[in-house]
Amino acid sequence: MNSELRIYNSLTRNTETFTPLHAGYVGMYVCGPTVYNNAHLGNARTFVSFDVIYRYLMHLGYKVRYVRNITDAGHLESDADEGEDKISKKAKLEQLEPMEIVQRYTIDFHEVMQLMNTLPPSIEPTATGHIIEQIEMTKQIMANGYAYEVNGSVYFDVEKFAQTNNYTILSGRNLDELLNNTRELDGQEEKKGRLDFALWIKAKPEHIMKWPSPWGLGFPGWHLECSAMSNKYLGNEFDIHGGGMDLIPTHHTNEIAQNLACSHKSPARFWIHTNMLTVNGQKMSKSLGNSFLPHELFSGNHPLLQKGYSPMSVRFFMLQAHYRSTLDFSNEALQAAEKGLQRLMNAVNLLPSVKTSVQTSINMATLKQSVYEALNDDFNTPIAIAALFEIVRNINLINDGKESINEADKTALTQFINTMVFDVLGLKTEQSANTGKIDGLMQLVLEQRNAAKARKDYAASDEIRDKLKSIGFEIKDSKEGTTYTILN
Ligand SMILES: [Zn+2]
Repeated sequence: MNSELRIYNSLTRNTETFTPLHAGYVGMYVCGPTVYNNAHLGNARTFVSFDVIYRYLMHLGYKVRYVRNITDAGHLESDADEGEDKISKKAKLEQLEPMEIVQRYTIDFHEVMQLMNTLPPSIEPTATGHIIEQIEMTKQIMANGYAYEVNGSVYFDVEKFAQTNNYTILSGRNLDELLNNTRELDGQEEKKGRLDFALWIKAKPEHIMKWPSPWGLGFPGWHLECSAMSNKYLGNEFDIHGGGMDLIPTHHTNEIAQNLACSHKSPARFWIHTNMLTVNGQKMSKSLGNSFLPHELFSGNHPLLQKGYSPMSVRFFMLQAHYRSTLDFSNEALQAAEKGLQRLMNAVNLLPSVKTSVQTSINMATLKQSVYEALNDDFNTPIAIAALFEIVRNINLINDGKESINEADKTALTQFINTMVFDVLGLKTEQSANTGKIDGLMQLVLEQRNAAKARKDYAASDEIRDKLKSIGFEIKDSKEGTTYTILN
């Protein structure tokens, strides 16, 4: 009944019909965070995008193995194998063990992911947990003639690889131009070619995170971990590989080269890349002072933010842009998303209570089909949300008596909109499901207190007030009556 799923494949720069390698199963690898700092919003957006992709693939009936790694070693400050290991550097700065840094920021990352209601991946492997696999892969690439050792470090020979392979297949860049434009091997004399990259890096004596290898004490290069871990958990060919688009020119380009040099197989058939974030039209960056963390966005505790936005408002806001478009943060856009989400949730809550008729006047099939068509068109969430708002409009018309729905269709529509909103888009009601009951209970308590006051039993009314306060409810008397707030 539904149209087929089509995905924009960065590798071919075409939108292609998706069919998995093995019928019914999907293997998906997404490059996870380097845990040396608080989770940032760009990452959050990427992982929310892949969360919807994961959820939708499962909704279509696929059994999905979703692997998203944690980089806890090997990621140097520059992608060109220069500078210090990001985690070691932070550990020195904060006078902590590297694994304390890893633990702290992994927890932070997971907290943000949970607040944003993303499902955990099926496997979340770490680089340090796969040193042996990375050493084995390096050995195989060397045995196949595409890597060489110099003074305890092992480098991938890009020029040799490029003689028989298309090294820039993913980026589409011109290799000769890259070779000419890449700066001299300044301080990296060990490398034979300017584009060569490290598979294994010899550890300097002061380097904290190091492991024994056939080439001496060292640590793996960042690109290698994703090749080794995707290979281990998804095989040397799998369906989808994803990440932020900033990973295309170096990290993902090198991953493909490593896999081809090791097993003669290109790892993923579909490459999916998410676009960047901007703030008021400018690239989000620390140096411009316009970058804020997810926690700051939720609390509103940042000079650029007029107020805080709930995690679901932020998630809904993110989904209102297609994952391949830039996403521009502004107070106006966030406030509009907050209102939009409220309108959607109101209709979801209203639908079960609308009156039914004998006949259904709305076109159920068309309304549902347009949501599927949008999601099947490269997971186009903004169009899918627009299609859901068309359903919202119809729910409101039914409620106003201007359209009608029969009992069976109401049940089907309720199930459909709940599935799309909660299971596929991954939104959730932020007020607890008990809010209504609490409200009813509080009205009862306040009536009792008013009755106590009316009979001038102030001791009882004060006691009710004080006891409510001690369990977290503050009440306020005014001319209009008594209201309460739940203290956090
Ligand atoms: Zn990666």
